[in-house]
Amino acid sequence: MITFYPGPSKIYPEVAAYCQDAFSSGILSQNHRSEAFMTLLRTCIEVFKTKLNIPMSYEVFFTSSATECWEIVSQSFVSTQSHHIFNGAFGQKWFDYAKKIHPLSSGQLLDYQEKITNFSIPETAEIICLTQNETSNTTQLDLSILKNIYPEKLIAIDVTSSLGGIELAWEKGDIWLASAQKCLGLPSGLGILICSSRAIHQAKIMNDRNYYNSLLFIRDNFNQYQTHYTPNILGIYLLKRVMEQVENIKKISSQIIQRALDFYDYIENETDLELLVKNPEVRSMTVVGISGSKEKIQEIKHKAAKKNIILGNGYGKWQDSTFRIANFPAINNNEFDQLKQLLQQ
Ligand SMILES: *Cc1c(COP(=O)(O)O)cnc(C)c1O
Repeated sequence: MITFYPGPSKIYPEVAAYCQDAFSSGILSQNHRSEAFMTLLRTCIEVFKTKLNIPMSYEVFFTSSATECWEIVSQSFVSTQSHHIFNGAFGQKWFDYAKKIHPLSSGQLLDYQEKITNFSIPETAEIICLTQNETSNTTQLDLSILKNIYPEKLIAIDVTSSLGGIELAWEKGDIWLASAQKCLGLPSGLGILICSSRAIHQAKIMNDRNYYNSLLFIRDNFNQYQTHYTPNILGIYLLKRVMEQVENIKKISSQIIQRALDFYDYIENETDLELLVKNPEVRSMTVVGISGSKEKIQEIKHKAAKKNIILGNGYGKWQDSTFRIANFPAINNNEFDQLKQLLQQ
């Protein structure tokens, strides 16, 4: 089977042996306050930060999912209002969760075919929330200017379907969140939250300690390389092994971007299919949306199924007229060649 599903997505094949190693090593039966676990957590965070070029001063925490991280943002960093800039379903969902916690939270819905050019961010918003890579409509947002326009506001960025695939400008955001089952090529059930020292400072001012997953409570434990509940030890172990295996993100990023550009070019010039995102400036580098007539899409899905190739379904209203292709690092070039063959026929 070959899968191009954008989450859960293809897992690095080496993970099969790492699971066996995890079992044999005994780490899975160790208490999460044991020396062995503390060493695992410390070394996992170290290699994760090194391979992804995360600044020393940023702190890394593990949770259960990206969705959980959305709630942590509202609970631990916001007292009355977050402001959400989004153009698709995941950004919308984040906004919806935020409003349940802080009803005054505000949002700006963008046209998914267009680059952000003008913002109207309320004075009263304490934090700006963005989805860098919108998995539902296969767009990516350029965030770099926000930090310059609003240097005093915290910026939280969902990078669930791009972390591990493209290099991120860490200094442009304060809170970054993701999960393991997309670009990182790992099984689901591990969320990742990355905080700048400004974010930690804000959490200390808020001083929220009301929830099992209040940031400061998580942090008290992580400061000792422990966790506030029995964590996904296997997930942390696998993340460490995969991070040891992969190249630095700079290298991965240039390969992923090149493969994305080649694939976009291929779809436009060598098939009778179209790209969902017309504007090259907002096309995602890690998830590609392809559109066509209902019949054509149906036919491709049928052919793919026969060859045991799984394509990502179109999201929501695009279910029948599009499909999505994950361009994640765990998927190899040979698999892309097979996909191209399929699409050419
Ligand atoms: C998949 C996805 C999520 C949700 O991730 P979970 O780990 O299921 O909580 C959030 N945001 C984006 C952009 C996603 O692609």
